[in-house]
Amino acid sequence: MLGAMAQTPVETVPSVCPHDCTSTCALEVERLDLHTIGRVRGSHRNTYTRGVICEKVGRYAERVHHPDRLLHPLRRVGPKGSGRFERIAWDDALDLVAEAFTRQAARLGLETVWPYYYAGTMGLVQRDGINRLTHAMGYSRYFSTICVTLADTGWAAGVGAKRGVDLREIGEHSDLVVIWGGNPVNTQVNVMSHAMQAKRRGATFVVVDPYRTDTAAKADLHLAPRPGTDGALACAIMHVLFAEGLADWDYLRAYTDCPDELAAHVATRTPEWAAAITGLSVDQIVAFARLYGRTKKSFIRCHHGFSRSRNGAVNMHAVSCLPAITGAWRYQGGGAVYGQTAIYPLDRTLIEGRDLVDKSIRALDQSRLGQILTGDREALKGGPPVTAMLVQNTNPAMVCPELNLVHQGLAREDLFLCVHEQFLTETAAFADVVLPATMFVEHDDFYTASGHTYFQVTKKVIEPPGECRENHWVICELAKRLGATHRAFQMTPWEIMDETLRKSGMWDAETNWRRGGQDFAPPFETAHFLDGFPTPDRRFHFKPDWARFGGRGAEMPTLPDHFAVTDEATAEKPFRLVAAPARTFLNSTFTETPSSRAREKRPTALLHPDDCAALGAVAGTAVQLGNERGLVIAHAEPREGQPRGVVIVEGVWPNKHFVNRLGINALTSAEPGYPNGGAVFHDTAVWIRRVDLDATARL
Ligand code: SF4
Repeated sequence: MLGAMAQTPVETVPSVCPHDCTSTCALEVERLDLHTIGRVRGSHRNTYTRGVICEKVGRYAERVHHPDRLLHPLRRVGPKGSGRFERIAWDDALDLVAEAFTRQAARLGLETVWPYYYAGTMGLVQRDGINRLTHAMGYSRYFSTICVTLADTGWAAGVGAKRGVDLREIGEHSDLVVIWGGNPVNTQVNVMSHAMQAKRRGATFVVVDPYRTDTAAKADLHLAPRPGTDGALACAIMHVLFAEGLADWDYLRAYTDCPDELAAHVATRTPEWAAAITGLSVDQIVAFARLYGRTKKSFIRCHHGFSRSRNGAVNMHAVSCLPAITGAWRYQGGGAVYGQTAIYPLDRTLIEGRDLVDKSIRALDQSRLGQILTGDREALKGGPPVTAMLVQNTNPAMVCPELNLVHQGLAREDLFLCVHEQFLTETAAFADVVLPATMFVEHDDFYTASGHTYFQVTKKVIEPPGECRENHWVICELAKRLGATHRAFQMTPWEIMDETLRKSGMWDAETNWRRGGQDFAPPFETAHFLDGFPTPDRRFHFKPDWARFGGRGAEMPTLPDHFAVTDEATAEKPFRLVAAPARTFLNSTFTETPSSRAREKRPTALLHPDDCAALGAVAGTAVQLGNERGLVIAHAEPREGQPRGVVIVEGVWPNKHFVNRLGINALTSAEPGYPNGGAVFHDTAVWIRRVDLDATARL
């Protein structure tokens, strides 16, 4: 009679993906009981998500119920970095942290304490509440540079604010979709669903990326410029647009700052000039420029990848100039987008304690953690050494550039480190105190999005396992012990959300949750800047005031150009390294899940087949990648579709998965990009040599 038994329907609960992918997908989470989730699916309540999510979040139960979850507070009992800990009570753990912070501050001043965080969750209350503690105590402030600084600057330089055309337009309206500098199959799967809808309708799909990604494999045309040369490519496209009468002069005169000056400037930026810089052929450049210029409804999705370079802001700005030349902004399905975070009218004062900010207190650069912890005077801005840290939602021992310095700093015996985490990460292994953290289904929060236009509130789906506690609770408990005062320390996350939303003129938290998010999509005229760009003169700026963004702006080209400040290949270091995202990792997250690890296999160096042959390498040959910052061993794989002299290593693999137990960021530089900082993960020159692993093992 089993076949006749009625199946109890599984309860599903709405939620939102908290991960650092601009999609911020609306989710439906199966709740099997109060402690257990099942399958996670994309929700149809959000017309951008449209039921599509990535595979890694679909099987999120693997993370939530992972046997290695941290469940109890721990105190270090072995040497730093040994990973040897003993269980302690929450009160004892928090007391230890507060005592250490107080002791170090009494010795060296409040700036010796540096709360450090990033986007392991993108939820605003749980991620950014740490800033309230920083400001209330007068600790060293945090200058966030590891992800969007260069791209934000480059986009704002021309457009004026981080917003643009709604990605939902492209499926039905775009005739040409260009994915520039990103691999949404790996990093923003929803964009692919909208782009493929356009392609099925007959739109042309183009990808600009230095290697044949899974996204590029689906393109009608793939351009693979050398890393860091996108500005040159964009300038040559501008040259063709002006030279062949494809510029919309009515639009240029009405909406831009100096079109005549730009046209004269790019007259010398010929396809031949760009071919020599980018490695593309003249024919490829001209063909793409004509395709772009002749398609009115052309849409560019500017991703972050091509901005992760010393000249990244210049490159982003140069690409953002293109629709202002053809006037593509005029048309539904035309224009461009990089991100949408400027559309939300959110007042973040309560969340972050912005009413307590003291700008005279130094702000330390997140990406320069290695320099900061090893006493670099310039990185420390002349202030005291950092001797105490609280780390939430990030794993700098894997994701920060210049890992040798980062590990050296984290191993300092005089550094007190508290890490609040979901797993015993490689950063947590260096900690004095480890605190177990909740995951997104175990707490309340709310989310802006960058890839779409909804603001979404979520509620806890299940109870946290063991003694896991949310970030907000930890921050409030520490505030109590440290004597930090701000009324948000006495509020619940829901109260903070609700008051913040009401103060911002948005739907209250309950309404937002019940209705599945509030859509802040601007009207067509505004999204396409037909009522003016959000710049002081309401025009797009071909000639940005770079100095407005940072100290090194005066060194930058005044008009779009190839800005030759990258870590160029040399005879000693003939390869340019791109440390790109893997499909089933997300930065360091998901590297602990067996299914992601099984899919990604092992750290792999993708090389042009001719480069492989020149190295005497075949698929699986161990190769050493090196430069003055470090050495990394990976396994070679020949790959068509990328220029010679370019090597791609996908995924932020844990250090321990590399043969020499040092990850890819041992090679990347912490040098700040122009003009105001930003990490340059795809701007690295390296040598590559075959390596005999048996001989290495014998050493
Ligand atoms: S695509 Fe991005 S936002 Fe959507 S579920 Fe995956 S990681 Fe989360």
